[in-house]
Amino acid sequence: MANPFAGKFRVEGRNFALAKVDPRDDSAFAGKEKAKAQIAEDAEAINQLQDRLYAEGDRSLLVVLQGIDCSGKDGTVRAVFNTCGPIGVEVTPFKVPSEEERDHDYLWRVHKACPRKGIIGIFNRSHYEDVLVVKVKKLARPEAIERRYEEINQFEKMLSDNGTRILKFMLHISKEEQAERLKERVTDPTKQWKFNPGDLADRKLWDDYMAAYETALKRCSTAHAPWHVIPADRNWTRNAAIARVVRETLEDMAPKYPPPDGWDPKTVVIE
Ligand code: AMP
Ligand code: MG
Repeated sequence: MANPFAGKFRVEGRNFALAKVDPRDDSAFAGKEKAKAQIAEDAEAINQLQDRLYAEGDRSLLVVLQGIDCSGKDGTVRAVFNTCGPIGVEVTPFKVPSEEERDHDYLWRVHKACPRKGIIGIFNRSHYEDVLVVKVKKLARPEAIERRYEEINQFEKMLSDNGTRILKFMLHISKEEQAERLKERVTDPTKQWKFNPGDLADRKLWDDYMAAYETALKRCSTAHAPWHVIPADRNWTRNAAIARVVRETLEDMAPKYPPPDGWDPKTVVIE
């Protein structure tokens, strides 16, 4: 697969250690200004590729965004996909499951939200919550959680075999950066709506969350649905990395405008 940039962030092999990824690493970029210019260029390229994907109407792209509170999932959607406009892009946030959702298997709500042909689907959180928060807070039996990694791999393989390309990103921030961002949420009236006192309980479980992330990243980074760990303490490295990987992936998919179906432009007369 021709994804040279993605390789810098891809999780490969069972030896992967999350602690070795520096959330402030910017070595993949030639400085902030160049990266910002690159984001704008890549977002425009994504817009054009998205138009072709939509016109082609045969395949879809699923972008999974995971990360602890304040890791910048919404900001990523805005920076990378705003140029696309609302026609061919669908964002689905996954919250605490509703009663109806809890009455089904954990993949039920996820499968329903998967992008139809021609669409770029973005998951803000995802089925991975079912091996992250659910594991950390012991919301399901350990044996059930243990089975999920392989169930998820099989589910993603099925999606991939049926025309959905999958990219998964963990937005990796440091505990210090989360503290800064939480403080802003508490004091900035335009951000207070994002603060949930429950986030502080999650913050106390930081190490457990990181361990759960590492397990999920190691066990569910596959050829058909690779995980990428993105240094996300700085918004520009986060946006630049994700925009470039998405662009490369769409270029590799190479969607094409379909030719006229059953008619000849030379013979059509419009009076
Ligand atoms: P937010 O993304 O900040 O709006 O918060 C959504 C909340 O829903 C987070 O605290 C998630 O951990 C929680 N959540 C998402 N999926 C699940 C799930 N399957 N089980 C339990 N909690 C979940
Ligand atoms: Mg939150």
